[in-house]
This record gives sequence, structure tokens and C-alpha cells, in this order.
Amino acid sequence: MLDFVQLEADLDQEERMIRDTAREFVEEHVKPDIGEHFENGTFPKELIPKMGEMGFYAPNLEGYGSPNVSETAYGLLMQELEAGDSGLRSMASVQGALVMYPIHAYGSEEQKDEWLPEMGTGETIGCFGLTEPEHGSNPTAMETYAERDDDGYVLNGSKTWITNSPIADVAIVWARDRSADDDPVRGFLVETDRDGVSTNKITEKLSLRASITGEIGLNNVRVPEENVLPGVSSMKGPLSCLTQARYGIAWGAVGAARDCFEEARQYANDRDQFGGPISRFQLQQRKLAEMGTQITLAQLLAYRLAELKERGEMRPQHVSMAKRNNVRMARNQSRIAREMLGGNGITTDYSPMRHMANLETVYTYEGTHDIHTLVLGEEFTGIPAYE
Ligand code: FAD
Repeated sequence: MLDFVQLEADLDQEERMIRDTAREFVEEHVKPDIGEHFENGTFPKELIPKMGEMGFYAPNLEGYGSPNVSETAYGLLMQELEAGDSGLRSMASVQGALVMYPIHAYGSEEQKDEWLPEMGTGETIGCFGLTEPEHGSNPTAMETYAERDDDGYVLNGSKTWITNSPIADVAIVWARDRSADDDPVRGFLVETDRDGVSTNKITEKLSLRASITGEIGLNNVRVPEENVLPGVSSMKGPLSCLTQARYGIAWGAVGAARDCFEEARQYANDRDQFGGPISRFQLQQRKLAEMGTQITLAQLLAYRLAELKERGEMRPQHVSMAKRNNVRMARNQSRIAREMLGGNGITTDYSPMRHMANLETVYTYEGTHDIHTLVLGEEFTGIPAYE
């Protein structure tokens, strides 16, 4: 496996163990039929509790059944899962960073006790509802709202592009609280079997096909007061979750790219043309040289991000740079790998084109590439250029 600058040497025993366990899990349970799932547009649901058993959901949190592993270990886990498929990493990212994290950070003790242990095992599936049909890159303009009634709130609105909504037991819905001054954004835990909740599946995807995506319709949905996350009020709530998930993506994308590299390297050595393996051609070696270099640079950024996160010094702008760079790198390199596989490269028998298609989603969600460019533009000039 590509580790050109020997980053492995700095891993501790637990980090190696988590990486190896995740790698074996992907080899044994994911790789054999992920291509078929991609073709069929299905997610291997039987893996959800297995991933829970393995401790793949938010193991970097502390308490409530979570082992509080290092940020590097968490990153390595995301890397290995995405080497399998971005859909698999998305499952773990949503469950861990977008649902368990806000409950852990902003939930009441009762909410933490009720949800975190069950979500950690995968018995309960969560989803994160921020994006709306009319508001993607600018979620601040969200229209979903909550109004107080006697013993809680009534929610109305719609969310779309929500990973796992059709199979989720609970959704964290971000909505404006119209009964408070300035309509602050609040997080509501909405069980999907409540009256007025619908979760239609989006079926037309050509990317992230081995992942379930849907809408959340909210039509006069009543939730009690105890379902509101008490610890946050404002866009800080959803944005802080996105920082956590983007951290995992910055690592995960490297895994997808590495898998493409390994597949292309193997293929180039095995495939004979003009009397010998295509890996003897300079043109093919140049592609591998570039791919290996770009992956190594992205790995370095991810490892540094982990150090900053561990020290409490990681800022959202750091994550924007890593997400932006590493996903773009993976998107570009997956295409080169695909190319090296010739005709076989366009099939689901090999991973590069599946990764390449998946990475279109990864490039778009959790802040599009453009939006992270604007984050960095503001960081370096002091001038926001969103509007
Ligand atoms: P838009 O915001 O309409 O953007 C369209 C284009 O305009 C993009 O190229 C964008 O970069 C560009 N653009 C927008 N604003 C600017 C600007 N100011 N300057 C320059 N260019 C700009 N959301 C959730 O809440 N939960 C989920 O679980 C979830 N899962 C997803 C799963 C999948 C498979 C996909 C595809 C999306 C998912 N999303 C989820 C939604 C995702 O986060 C949004 O698609 C993303 O934020 C972009 O929003 P949009 O699609 O509305 O595009």
C-alpha cells in the first residue's frame, strides 16, 4: 500500500490496529460485491450493525460507549472505509460526525443516554437534514421552521439530498425557531415515524450509487421540547458538525485515490501490450509518478490536520483547505487511474470509475469545491466574496 514517506512509522499501536481492522473489513465484506451494489443502486445494509460492532461510528467521541480514539485513528478509519467506497464512508460520517457528534456536543444528558449508545452500535440509524431544495450552498437562508405549541414545537418544511433519510430512525433537522427573537437555527431530533414525516428516496443518482439518499418532508410534525438540542442556537450548530464530517472527508478522499492508484499499478504490471506489461512504458510510469506524488501530498495534509485537531488548534479554514485539495486530487487521479485500465476501466469489475463517479458527490457535498475556495479567499484577503 502506498505510504511513500513512511507515515506508518509514527502510528501508535491502537492506530495501526484500527487501520488494519478497517482494511480487513473492507477487503472481506465490502470489496467482493460493492460493484454490484453500485450497479443496483443499493447500500449493503447488513453492514450497518457490523460496522457498529467494529466501532466505526464516532469512535473519537468520549463516553457513552465510545472509545475516544485519536484523531489520526479516526482519520485512518475514514481513509480505509473510503478505499472501499465513498458510500460506506458517508454512512459512517453521517452517523458519527453529523448525528452522534451534535448530540454529544449539544444534547441533554437524557438525549445522550437515549441515542448515543444505540447509534454507536448501529441499532439506530440517524441522518442530518440541513440542505433544502432551494438552499444548498447557503443553508443560512433555510425556510424550514418550528413554531411553539403547548408542549413542544411544530415543524414544517422540506430537506433534500439527505444521506440515509429513507432508512433513518431519527433525523437531526435544522430549522428556524420562529417563536424566538431573530429566528435562530435550532437542532431538532425528529423520529421518522412521527406523523407528518416523509422520507422519499432519490433514485436517479449516477454518483454515490451504493448509498441511500432521500428527502425529508415535514408537514405539521409535532416534537416535544425534550427533542430540541439545548446546547446550541445559531448556524454554529450545523456548521460545527460539518467541520467534523469534512475532516473525515479530507482523509477519506485519500483512501479512494489510493485504491485507484493500487488498482492502476497492479493492472499496469499485469496487462501486456506490444510484447510486455504496459507499466514499462514511460507514459504509464509518468501517470503513476504523478498519482503517487499527489496522494502523498494529500496524506501529509491529512496527517497535519489530525495533529492540529488533537491539539485543539484546527480551524474550519484548515479543514476547508484539506477537503478542497484532497477531494480535487482524488477526483483528478481517479480519472487517470481509470484511463490506465483501458476498456476494463469503465466497468464495475474495477474500482477507479466507481470512485470517480462517487467523487463527484464528494466534490459537491459538505461545501462545494467553489464554496471552500471562497472560505480560503476570505481567509487570505479578509474579504468575503459569497454574495
Ligand atoms: P448549489 O448551492 O445550488 O450550487 C450550484 C453551483 O453553484 C455549485 O457549483 C456551487 O459551487 C456554485 N455556487 C453556489 N454559491 C456560489 C457562490 N457564492 N460563488 C460561486 N459559486 C457558487 N445535505 C445534507 O444536509 N445532509 C446530507 O446528508 C447530504 N447528503 C448528500 C448526499 C449526496 C449524494 C449529495 C449529492 C448531496 C448531499 N447533501 C446533503 C447536499 C449537499 O451538501 C449540497 O448538494 C451542497 O451543499 C450544494 O448545494 P446545492 O446542490 O443546492 O448546489
